[in-house]
Amino acid sequence: MRPEELRNFELTDRQKGVRAMAKDFAQQEILPNVQQWEKDGRYPKDIVKKMGELGMLGVFVPERYGGAGLDYLSYGIICEEVAYADWVCASIISVQNSLVESGILNFGTEKQKQRYLVPLAKGEMQASSALTEPSGGTDLVALETTARRNGDSYILNGQKTFCSHASHSNVYFTLATVDKSLGRKGICAFLVDNPSPGMVVNPLNMSTMKRSNIAQIFFDDVRVSKENLLGEEGLGMTIVGATLSTGRYSVAARCVGQAQACLDAVLSYAPPESDIRAKRKRIPDGKADGC
Ligand SMILES: Cc1cc2nc3c(=O)[nH]c(=O)nc-3n(C[C@H](O)[C@H](O)[C@H](O)COP(=O)(O)OP(=O)(O)OC[C@H]3O[C@@H](n4cnc5c(N)ncnc54)[C@H](O)[C@@H]3O)c2cc1C
Repeated sequence: MRPEELRNFELTDRQKGVRAMAKDFAQQEILPNVQQWEKDGRYPKDIVKKMGELGMLGVFVPERYGGAGLDYLSYGIICEEVAYADWVCASIISVQNSLVESGILNFGTEKQKQRYLVPLAKGEMQASSALTEPSGGTDLVALETTARRNGDSYILNGQKTFCSHASHSNVYFTLATVDKSLGRKGICAFLVDNPSPGMVVNPLNMSTMKRSNIAQIFFDDVRVSKENLLGEEGLGMTIVGATLSTGRYSVAARCVGQAQACLDAVLSYAPPESDIRAKRKRIPDGKADGC
């Protein structure tokens, strides 16, 4: 890219079209329902289907895998516009696109792409990430969930917490270690089907963000096929390192959308500019005007 192109912050016509589509959808289909969903604690499952049909759940997934084949800026624009209307719907977009789909797209086998990536990108399946544990989420290398090799499978034991959208997801991007003494080199990423025998999902009783369905997941001898190992054994932290940035970027974009919504909301309570100017005129020079 040439330096003059780097200085060009204009959106392309395609990106402008993406913004118009996302804004229209968020304002028409999401925003009018949010207050009622909040009251009822209702999860927007029907919106997931519609977001899938519009390509919002496979934004940068190539079209051959059921995605929209768009760029990362378009992804940020969609997150921003949907978050303006509702944090939870935007969070579904983030969780699905970022770690999970990026992980499968960049590290998955063709079989994993057909089985998971295609339906995820189309919104026919939902995914969560299961990284954080009760002992902490920042230092993932210290995680305690274990994966014991057993023939053509791994047996998972442990506990995850703070997993967004967990009860509504069909698959979890799950980190576990085959050998804690190996540190990061022992950590593997698995695609764990929900439901799986031995796995219990327990939504947390949050005092806020109730609709995000943030949950604990308990693994008690959960058998996961070797076919569901993402990349190679020991590659878990490399996959997280390579893909989590798309999640952080999308959270930042969501914050921009939410901040804009807050600003627009308070502006409607502010007096008209002409009133402020008239008030200022009445205050002698050098005195604070109290605005
Ligand atoms: C709304 C919400 C949704 C979430 N969704 C998911 C999800 O879908 N999936 C998932 O897996 N997790 C999810 N999380 C969990 C999130 O990823 C963790 O909260 C985050 O990783 C931090 O982990 P923690 O809360 O255990 O804090 P800790 O890791 O205990 O950290 C607490 C504080 O200590 C600091 N700290 C920690 N270790 C060190 C160190 N070695 N040196 C210096 N400072 C340190 C941290 O910076 C932080 O300020 C979610 C959390 C929230 C709030």
